[in-house]
Amino acid sequence: MPRVPIKKVEARQILDSRGYPTLEVVVETAKGIGVFGVPSGASTGRAEAVELRDGGDKFFGLGVTKAIKNVNEIIGKKLKGTDVANQKKVDEMLLELDGALDKSNLGGNALIGVSGAVCKAAAASKGIEVYEYVASLRRNKKYKLPRPMFNVINGGVHGDTNLNIQEFMLVPSGQSFSENLETASEVFQALRKTLKLHRLDTDLGNEGGYSPNWESNEQPLRLIAEAVSQTRHASQMELALDAAANQFFNSRDKEYILNADHTALNAERMVSLYRHWAEKYPIISIEDGLNEDDWEGWSAMQKRLGDKIMLVGDDLFVTQAKRLKKGIELGVANAIIIKPNQVGTITETMNTVVLAQKNNYKIVCSHRSGETNDDFIADFAVGVGADFIKAGSVARGERVAKWNRLLKIEEELI
Ligand code: PGA
Ligand code: ZN
Repeated sequence: MPRVPIKKVEARQILDSRGYPTLEVVVETAKGIGVFGVPSGASTGRAEAVELRDGGDKFFGLGVTKAIKNVNEIIGKKLKGTDVANQKKVDEMLLELDGALDKSNLGGNALIGVSGAVCKAAAASKGIEVYEYVASLRRNKKYKLPRPMFNVINGGVHGDTNLNIQEFMLVPSGQSFSENLETASEVFQALRKTLKLHRLDTDLGNEGGYSPNWESNEQPLRLIAEAVSQTRHASQMELALDAAANQFFNSRDKEYILNADHTALNAERMVSLYRHWAEKYPIISIEDGLNEDDWEGWSAMQKRLGDKIMLVGDDLFVTQAKRLKKGIELGVANAIIIKPNQVGTITETMNTVVLAQKNNYKIVCSHRSGETNDDFIADFAVGVGADFIKAGSVARGERVAKWNRLLKIEEELI
């Protein structure tokens, strides 16, 4: 393949699904363009790449015009003429230009915007799909659709309620992605009726799941089970949780404060609670069950639950190979969330994926709570051969964009 030089890199400010500013980056070549919408988290890990925000009055300080300036005036100029298909070189240049380990100079949001747009432009310039191009970067020759996790109840910082556990996800075990999507849609509608029956609100949280106030952190599990039993899918429904435990951890007392249950638990009792739930409900996966700095607690949790349940590190690993390596050494968790914007470039994301796969950690590719209609993560998940993907519920356009993209990819692969 002849070199296809990058002609132009340009960013603009757009809004994300929560009404906050974010970047859209466009990379142009003579053979095709790539456009990338940068997502943004609310329950972020401490060690994530830094999102550069403007400060000041506009958008309550959340504008991204400084990050945009960095793309247009610094990164764009430097990348001009570089081969768009040399992702590694592009990402090395980005890291060198920024110079900070946490990407705080140019902004992790600026970096992932450019890195992602370059990846998409490279696929376009070759006339292939983004998942095919990602697979070539991963040297992956066998395509499989990831198993979807549908977040139908939103708590924690993704809803304005008393629920502490952040995500309650349906994980249908049907034969195909499209069958699983259909199942999730039916259960989502049934759940609405169940909530109404129990006089609970059916308004939606940040990721498109229902977000009422609850009697306890267990009640959502009970009502999901009730809703599932009203459908044709009782026998093939499994569940996953994202506790996002950082958000309800009190670091002074080393306790998890469960408002909805009017109680506080230490790490050991928190793990006992998870085990109790997993005995009552078909839970196959628990993400961020404990705080991001409690490596000891995680290791104890892995010993108690790890042979039966997928224990997923999100804020714990923040998609960074260095933290994952520490986790592997300490025998912590058995799965990892992959969010490209947590680390800042596609190459670093890929390195973390490779390290995880070589060590038999399951891969869960993930959207963020602040999203755009960009569906890159769906292609990325297929390209790297991810085991799972989470992209919110089956409602709200920015969530459905990812599911609908997977429908299309499945159609192409059959
Ligand atoms: P975030 O939440 O995008 O707000 O970080 C998603 C998650 O915790 O998995
Ligand atoms: Zn998470």
